[in-house]
Amino acid sequence: MKSLVILHASQLVTLSGPQRPRVGTELSVLGIIRDGGMLIRNGEIERVGPSDDIEKNVDDAEIVDARGHVVLPGFVDAHTHLVFAGNRLDDFERRARGETYEQIAKAGGGIWSTVEKTRAASERDLLAQAKKHANWFLRCGTTTVEAKSGYGLTVEDELKILRVMRQLKDEVRLEIVPTFLGAHAVSRELSPDQYLDVVVTKMLPRVTAEKLAEFCDVFCERGYFDIDQSRQILSAAKELGLSLRGHADQLTNSGGAKLMAELGATTADHLEQTDGQGIGALLKANVQPVLLPGSVYALGSSRYPRAREMIEAGLAVVLATDFNPGSSPTPSMPMVLSLACTQMKTSPAEAITASTINAAYSLNRGARIGSLEPGKLANFAIFDCEDYRELAYWFGMAQTHSVYVRGGRVV
Ligand SMILES: [Zn+2]
Repeated sequence: MKSLVILHASQLVTLSGPQRPRVGTELSVLGIIRDGGMLIRNGEIERVGPSDDIEKNVDDAEIVDARGHVVLPGFVDAHTHLVFAGNRLDDFERRARGETYEQIAKAGGGIWSTVEKTRAASERDLLAQAKKHANWFLRCGTTTVEAKSGYGLTVEDELKILRVMRQLKDEVRLEIVPTFLGAHAVSRELSPDQYLDVVVTKMLPRVTAEKLAEFCDVFCERGYFDIDQSRQILSAAKELGLSLRGHADQLTNSGGAKLMAELGATTADHLEQTDGQGIGALLKANVQPVLLPGSVYALGSSRYPRAREMIEAGLAVVLATDFNPGSSPTPSMPMVLSLACTQMKTSPAEAITASTINAAYSLNRGARIGSLEPGKLANFAIFDCEDYRELAYWFGMAQTHSVYVRGGRVV
């Protein structure tokens, strides 16, 4: 592969720093190089520095002039539900008319409608739709996503979704980190305890035997999987070698964050209702909070998670889209940056750290992606703006200029 050189970026936002997730005031340190450049060989970053220095090492490399542009590590979206069939347009319209979740579910909407469509879809159809979604992510400047199963809720349908993710890896340049979320909701055909048994004794062993997931996640909420049921599922997953994530304290403060801390989960996600005690537990156990303001916004709520308190407590905060058809139909990290700054009062710099290097660590990939440093993969995005704060400031429009994965242009 020919080498590639990026020169004269108005801001090369490197995120260089300690080899671990960033906390406290570190979230505000972006390692910006003005008139910055980067030399890339064989898909990896070889040198980063002022353009003058980089230019001296250019031999026959392809040159990209990034004058007037910001260059950023590709966004790492650490919480998505990438693979599903159909959409939830009818729910969306009903919600706009003021109908409640219960009314919508009664009318045949809600998660169950997506489960039915996903079960009915062939692997090929699911793959085609997932490919379309994957390209949306790339166009927003995201180069890695975590992707959850969870719209199958039978052994075969959950495996089908995870296999689609595996196939997708070969067909698109978006990097995908698979998570098993069989415990997304209780299957209608079984009692909660029967379904839990299927997840633990049937699904998890197959998922791990076929190496279809790196993480296991649970929707920990009353009416879905309570604390004890969530503990059973996640403990079984841990024993099989999976790392843990969890949907916690989204609708009620039910102790989800504390459970994630108790089990040594990598992340606790959502946390809209988490209080100071929950924040303290996460801190003690080194669990990274993954905040999802897109779903709060799209559901028309105003109860955002307490990002400021979490940053000030010393948590290595992560921001993600929660891309899914029901509560967060957006693949856009720039939109999430806007919401983080306007609704949760993070600074633009904190939001960028949370959606790049901290997100990379939350997927066990901090050593390979999330910052622009020698030895890391050349996954980066070039934006049509001169100051990184513009990414959070202008909202509702695409500022992506081009996107590269492993040194190859994908957008
Ligand atoms: Zn989710």
